[in-house]
Amino acid sequence: MQENTRERYALIGAGPSGLAGARNLDRYGVPFDGFESHSDVGGLWDIDNPRSTVYRSAHLISSKTTTQFTEFPMAESVPDYPGHAALADYFRAYADEFGLRERFRFGTDVVRAEPADDGWVVTTRDHAGTETTSLYAGVIAANGTLATPHVPDFAGEFTGEFLHTARYKDPTLFAGKRVLVIGAGNSGCDIAVDAVHHAASVDLSVRRGYHFVPKYMFGRPADTLTRGRPLPPRIKQRVDALLLAQFTGDPTRFGLPAPDHRLYESHPVVNSLILHHLGHGDVRVRADIERFEGAEVRFVDGAVAEYDIVVSATGYRLDYPFLDRAHLSWTGDAPPLFLNLASPRHRNLFVLGMVEASGLGWQGRFEQAELVAKVIAAQTRAPGAAKEFARAAAGPPPDLSGGYRYVTLRRMAYYVEKNAYRRAVRAWSERIPVGPA
Ligand SMILES: Cc1cc2nc3c(=O)[nH]c(=O)nc-3n(C[C@H](O)[C@H](O)[C@H](O)COP(=O)(O)OP(=O)(O)OC[C@H]3O[C@@H](n4cnc5c(N)ncnc54)[C@H](O)[C@@H]3O)c2cc1C
Repeated sequence: MQENTRERYALIGAGPSGLAGARNLDRYGVPFDGFESHSDVGGLWDIDNPRSTVYRSAHLISSKTTTQFTEFPMAESVPDYPGHAALADYFRAYADEFGLRERFRFGTDVVRAEPADDGWVVTTRDHAGTETTSLYAGVIAANGTLATPHVPDFAGEFTGEFLHTARYKDPTLFAGKRVLVIGAGNSGCDIAVDAVHHAASVDLSVRRGYHFVPKYMFGRPADTLTRGRPLPPRIKQRVDALLLAQFTGDPTRFGLPAPDHRLYESHPVVNSLILHHLGHGDVRVRADIERFEGAEVRFVDGAVAEYDIVVSATGYRLDYPFLDRAHLSWTGDAPPLFLNLASPRHRNLFVLGMVEASGLGWQGRFEQAELVAKVIAAQTRAPGAAKEFARAAAGPPPDLSGGYRYVTLRRMAYYVEKNAYRRAVRAWSERIPVGPA
C-alpha cells in the first residue's frame, strides 16, 4: 500500500468532466492524482479511446457556443456543430492550456475504490496488468455515463448481425444490407441516416413518439435563439412547439408515433435529416419489436420482415464498476446523489458528469466540478461550510426539474432542467467561502 497519497483525491477519467475536475481542483488548491485508462484526454470524443461510443459521423447536437467551456471558447474556424475529431482537438488544447495533461496517469484503470480509515483505498491497474493500491483522502468519479450499453431483453433469437450503437463506428458496415435500427433517439436517428447512403434498405423501429428539433432555425443554431432568457415551462413549451410546427411539422405525417409527452419532458431528438429521409422514403418506420425469429423480426403491429443487421440504439446505463452500489446509495436506475454529484453517505465521494439535460453543455459540468473542488477545499479551509453541505447532501433532494414533468424512463432518472440545475449548483458554490488558491 502506498501511503503518500493520504491527503490527495483520486480523480477517475480525463473526459470533459474529468478535465473540468482537474482544472477546478487545481484552481482551488486541492491535491489530487488523475487516472485515465486511455492514452489521452477527451473521453468519448476521442474515437480512438476503446471506451468511446462516438461514430465517424458524430457531431455535437448542441451548438458550440452553448456547449464549450466559457473560459476556453472554440476558435472562430470551428463550425457551429463540430464533429468528434474537432472536439478531441479542443479537449487536447484545453488540457495543454491549463497544464492538465501532466495531472493524469494515462493507461491506468481504476478497478476498485473502498472506504477505509476515513479515506478511500483505491486500486489501479496499468495495461501491463500491474496493480497498485493506495489510500486516498477521497474519490471523484468522472468515468462517463454513455459507455455501458443497455440492451433490452428481446424475445427470441436473431441470427443475423446484432450490435449495439456502442460498437457502431462506420456505415460501410451496412453496404448492401437490410438494416433495422431499434430506437429513434439521437444515436438511432444519426445511424439510420448514415445507413441510408450504404444499405439496401433501412427500417427504424420506434416504440414511442419524439419531438424533433432542427439544428438551424431562422438561419441560426436553434439552441442560441432564446439564450439567457429562460421562459416559464408552460410558455416555453407553447412557444417552441409553435416554432417547431413551422419548421419540422407534425412527426405523425412521416409515419412516426405522436409524442406522448410535451416538448422538453423527454430529451428531444436534434435531427431534421431523419425527417428528410423519411419524407424521401429512404427510411421506413416500424412498430416496436415483438420477437426475433431467425433472420426475421416480428413487430407488435403484426408486420414481419427479414434483416441482415439489427442495430440496438437503446441507450446506455449508468455504471461505476469500481464502486460498490451501496456507497452511492443506489436505488432504481440512478444513484440519488445530491445535486447529481455528492454522495449522501460519504462526505469524500463525488461523481462528475452524471447529469442529463437539454443544453447543459460542458460549462454546466465545469460548474459541477467547481462546486466539488470548493466543498473539498472547504473541508480544511472552511469546515463549517463543508459540514453544512454534507448535511444538505444527506437530506431530501432539491427539485431540479425546473417545473417540467419528465417522463419516467431509465435515461431520465438523472435528468435535470439546465437553468434550475445551474442555479442550484452556483448557489451552493457561492455559499462556500473558499477562493481560488
Ligand atoms: C454521439 C454523442 C453525441 C453527443 N452530443 C453531445 C452534445 O451535443 N452536447 C453535449 O453536451 N453532450 C453530448 N454528448 C454527451 C457526452 O457524454 C458529453 O459531451 C461528454 O463527453 C461527457 O463527458 P464525461 O467526461 O462525463 O464522460 P466521457 O467523455 O465518457 O469520459 C469518461 C472518461 O473516463 C475514462 N474512464 C472510464 N472508466 C475509467 C476507469 N475505471 N479508470 C480510468 N479511466 C476511466 C474513459 O476512458 C473516458 O476517457 C454526446 C454523446 C454522444 C455519444
